[in-house]
Amino acid sequence: MLQPLTLPFEAALAERRFFKLICGASYRNYEVIRWLAEVFTHAGAHAIDVGLDVGSVEAARAGIQAAQAAGAEHEPVVLVSLDAGDDVHFFRITLDRPACTDCGSCLPACRFGVFDLTTALQLDEQNCTGCRECVPVCPTEALSLRPWGRARDYAGLLDACWQAGARGIELHTGSGDESGLAALWRLVGDQRQRWPFISFSVGDYGQGVPAVLALVGEIVGWAGSGIIIQTDGKPISGRSGAASTRAALDLAAQVMDLDLPAFVQVAGGTNDLTGALAQERSLPIHGVGMGSYARAFVGLPDAAQIPSRLDLWQSIHRARELVLSVNP
Ligand code: SF4
Ligand code: SF4
Repeated sequence: MLQPLTLPFEAALAERRFFKLICGASYRNYEVIRWLAEVFTHAGAHAIDVGLDVGSVEAARAGIQAAQAAGAEHEPVVLVSLDAGDDVHFFRITLDRPACTDCGSCLPACRFGVFDLTTALQLDEQNCTGCRECVPVCPTEALSLRPWGRARDYAGLLDACWQAGARGIELHTGSGDESGLAALWRLVGDQRQRWPFISFSVGDYGQGVPAVLALVGEIVGWAGSGIIIQTDGKPISGRSGAASTRAALDLAAQVMDLDLPAFVQVAGGTNDLTGALAQERSLPIHGVGMGSYARAFVGLPDAAQIPSRLDLWQSIHRARELVLSVNP
């Protein structure tokens, strides 16, 4: 049995219409986070996912408050992401400067405005989501991903993020290291009353679906009922079309077959078709999280190009389409 429902995000999960905006675990462009939070609060999103970082929480809360000051009735819960070890979401791009020829081939590969070739190639790392799309494009192998932002003081950072207004935690299961995740859970589980929103993000990051399913069973054994399992199909890969979202739905179907007392929310390649495709497959998911696709959909194709205030309502209208697409 699931726990009694008292909060708006819980009702949305139970009604299978939960929408989460994913800003990115490694992403730190506060101006963009604030803008996205404002847009998606107006649009009725139920949660906003940021890194374990006080500045990111404050930026999301500032966007929510700006929307509420302008009449928005919703208040999405802000959640922070923790890494159990080598999780793909906690990487950022790095440049081997001597190997770079400034050829510019990587510029069109990046949807997040990281590269600038005004003179020699420069990286604006705060905009990097770790999507990896630029890496194979470079002819000289000058680009690679490195682990980034792995917290050392989880307890202190969690407390600071709670003080800043975060009320949710997402634990990323990383490379499937059960002992690392269990250790993280021992810390978080002790604080469960403080954090009403607890999610575990699982994906087949090389260890195979049977291992993922076994891990999901372990997680529910530790955490009990009422948690959220995020099935991460193809991380940080959202594009348009049915193919983009298939892996997330396939994994959700296998997790839901376990019939565990947890909500199942999909992410990783999700888009405006995800909800309709789940219904076509008679797959009763509880919600959808979207990141890179959501940004482009609301008119933020490049982090350096926040639309003007005049365009805000157009972006909100587009964001509302996405929120409603979860349960069409
Ligand atoms: S393409 Fe992806 S990994 Fe490469 S710089 Fe841009 S955001 Fe970072
Ligand atoms: S593609 Fe590689 S060599 Fe060319 S500018 Fe980008 S990082 Fe430098």
